[in-house]
Amino acid sequence: MNSSGRVKIILAGESGTGKSSLVKAINPGKNVNVTIGIDICLEKITLNGRDISLEIWDTAGQERYQSFAQSYYRDAYGAILVYDISDRRSFIRVGSWLNQIKMFSTVEDMVIILVGNKIDLDVREVSREEGLTFAKQNNILFIETSADERTFVVHMLEKLVGKILTTHHVSIKKSSETMRLKMSPEPAKKKSGGCC
Ligand code: GDP
Ligand code: MG
Repeated sequence: MNSSGRVKIILAGESGTGKSSLVKAINPGKNVNVTIGIDICLEKITLNGRDISLEIWDTAGQERYQSFAQSYYRDAYGAILVYDISDRRSFIRVGSWLNQIKMFSTVEDMVIILVGNKIDLDVREVSREEGLTFAKQNNILFIETSADERTFVVHMLEKLVGKILTTHHVSIKKSSETMRLKMSPEPAKKKSGGCC
């Protein structure tokens, strides 16, 4: 945890892959925080009856700029590395993003989940097997999602935070009870204008 007692998680991946949409899909009720630079979304999950505070950092369109990288990655326990399954180019760039995460990460054994987003689209350029193979080779987690339809979005976060807690033995982890996210259940219809 960082000094504020929150577990920091960052979003990474090419522009247009759906990072901001995934954050919105995690909690559609929150208001838009339109800034240029970095958007920070505060989220709470419940584990064994205790709340865990998350701080989810989104690049807010600054993917191209390296200058923000150092402070962006600092103290992050988890990374959500997103590509678009309908855009092979975004998948090809995943390796470079992974290098960047590892280069700037300050937390040992940072947990990374590779996310193939937009599975609601018919046009698929990257197979599930390709994503899975890359994840296995690099010893990171893997899941496919649709931010638009909120498919597997909460599951993605559960998987990531669960691994962070087991990896880092964060003090809030008590027993082997299943983690439960204190959020609206999925799938749910996309709410217009609602986001974080
Ligand atoms: P970012 O640049 O990575 O933050 O990507 P955005 O969240 O801004 O999304 C880029 C575009 O992809 C937007 O037009 C989104 O509506 C669209 N998008 C994001 N996620 C999905 C998804 O799961 N399915 C589909 N069909 N479109 C998506
Ligand atoms: Mg964005």
